[in-house]
Amino acid sequence: MKFIFVTGGVVSSLGKGLTAAALGTLLENRGLKVALQKFDPYLNVDPGTMSPYQHGEVYVLDDGAETDLDLGHYERFTSTKLSRMNNLTSGQVYQKVLNNEREGVYLGKTVQVIPHVTDEIKRRIHLLAETSKADVIITEIGGTTGDIEGLPFVEAIREFALEAGVGNTCFIHVTYVPFIKAAGELKTKPTQQSVAKLREIGITPHIIACRCEKPLDKELRQKISMFCNVPVEAVIEAKDVDHSIYEMPLMLQRERMDDLVCRLLHLTTPAPNMAYWQEIIRKLIAPQHRVRVGVVGKYIELQDAYKSVYEAIIHGGIANDCGVEIVQIDAETIEKEGPAKILKGLGGILVPGGFGERGTEGKIIAAQYARENKVPYFGLCLGMQIATIEYARNVLKLDKAHSTEFNPDTPHPVIALLDAQRKVTKKGGTMRLGAMPCQLTLGTKAAALYGSFVIQERHRHRYEFNNAYREKFEKAGFVFSGTSPDGKLVEVIELTNHPFYIASQFHPEFMSKPHQPHPLFKGFIAAAHEHIHHKPL
Ligand code: GLN
Repeated sequence: MKFIFVTGGVVSSLGKGLTAAALGTLLENRGLKVALQKFDPYLNVDPGTMSPYQHGEVYVLDDGAETDLDLGHYERFTSTKLSRMNNLTSGQVYQKVLNNEREGVYLGKTVQVIPHVTDEIKRRIHLLAETSKADVIITEIGGTTGDIEGLPFVEAIREFALEAGVGNTCFIHVTYVPFIKAAGELKTKPTQQSVAKLREIGITPHIIACRCEKPLDKELRQKISMFCNVPVEAVIEAKDVDHSIYEMPLMLQRERMDDLVCRLLHLTTPAPNMAYWQEIIRKLIAPQHRVRVGVVGKYIELQDAYKSVYEAIIHGGIANDCGVEIVQIDAETIEKEGPAKILKGLGGILVPGGFGERGTEGKIIAAQYARENKVPYFGLCLGMQIATIEYARNVLKLDKAHSTEFNPDTPHPVIALLDAQRKVTKKGGTMRLGAMPCQLTLGTKAAALYGSFVIQERHRHRYEFNNAYREKFEKAGFVFSGTSPDGKLVEVIELTNHPFYIASQFHPEFMSKPHQPHPLFKGFIAAAHEHIHHKPL
């Protein structure tokens, strides 16, 4: 078994996760079984309780783990199945070590970062290796080299490589080569310094992936090669992609990164066949059709808050050979300025998940606008609850209907706390989380789009449709197109007198890949295109 470690230097947000994921795509296409793993140096046990302002999206796995958004990239770029084994935080490491200490596992010893903390980190790499039975494990270390918090992880991978022996591990360091306008040049010094920092800790990277805005010329490659102690072919240009993050695997392939990794790890495999991936890129760069859809949320100014939603929309476009322009709309602006001006001309409106009251009224107005003007509407989790509240208020005339999350004293709690949540007091990892089956109803649009009746989708919520109102809604034309198999929990709703009005309690965005677009996103984009161009794709 072979191990690749991806570290980052100079600044954060360099796309280490994307680099790891894109390398995963290439290795998989060489016929290797790949497993990916992320180490996060913060002390939270998981990112589930962090605000999107701190952390971006929380990505949910089948087993209900709330994880870093890089795991979303891993799932979208590869076929690897992820579980809570694939995301390790310092919080988990210390929790485990301290529990061990209380249980007497280290009896008689002083418990220390080296070896107890580093041993626990190494154990998690071995554990993934055993359970995944992969040929190659790619482990990404979050944070930037030199961060105090990240040191135990870096020390652990250094020890790991020593124990695994030469030819079994490979270190890739992702750095930044800034373009200094005044000098008109790319500068390699930050890269040199960050590699020096890594070497100080005992790790000499085998490959340097240089993020840059402009191409790295031969001279610069040679300079980095010499100062960073790697052959010139191991200086990889990772230039900003022109159109889409999905160009990354092809870019790394052009730089022969996968080839080099295989040589370093003594892996003999055929070259990857990326023809299907090239076709995906063709559809992204030069699509046959185009459409604009709006996403109405409250963290619109953050690039990462709705990561999987944006990606799944793009995938829905790929499925229809349709380029999608995503218009990011702040729900509070709709509250202030009304829907007509802001939502006009959009092919479809999507309301994603969310927590807390801010912006909910704007989302309700957007749902009403979509319903009344027959604009395709797609609601995800909170987006389904919003559609329910809107229908209750404006069609059923249930005055002040709301979710008890936002108004505990509403006279019409059409969305209420799940029964199983009533006694929950702790916040971490206690929502209804992970993949659960859902039964779709014959004859509904949802069933037609999925092409099946039993589906599995991922969840992350505490509130649900209040069954006390089911009959009232049904009589008023609100269709319950999916429920939990026992029929008790509403999972999907839709409207029939509308071209596309579907909302789900689950998060379909976590299950979409560029090469396997999610059926609901595919349907949404097709409907959005038809709404604008008045003819089916
Ligand atoms: N806040 C809502 C709930 O807890 C919706 C959650 C979400 O959109 N993920 O049920």
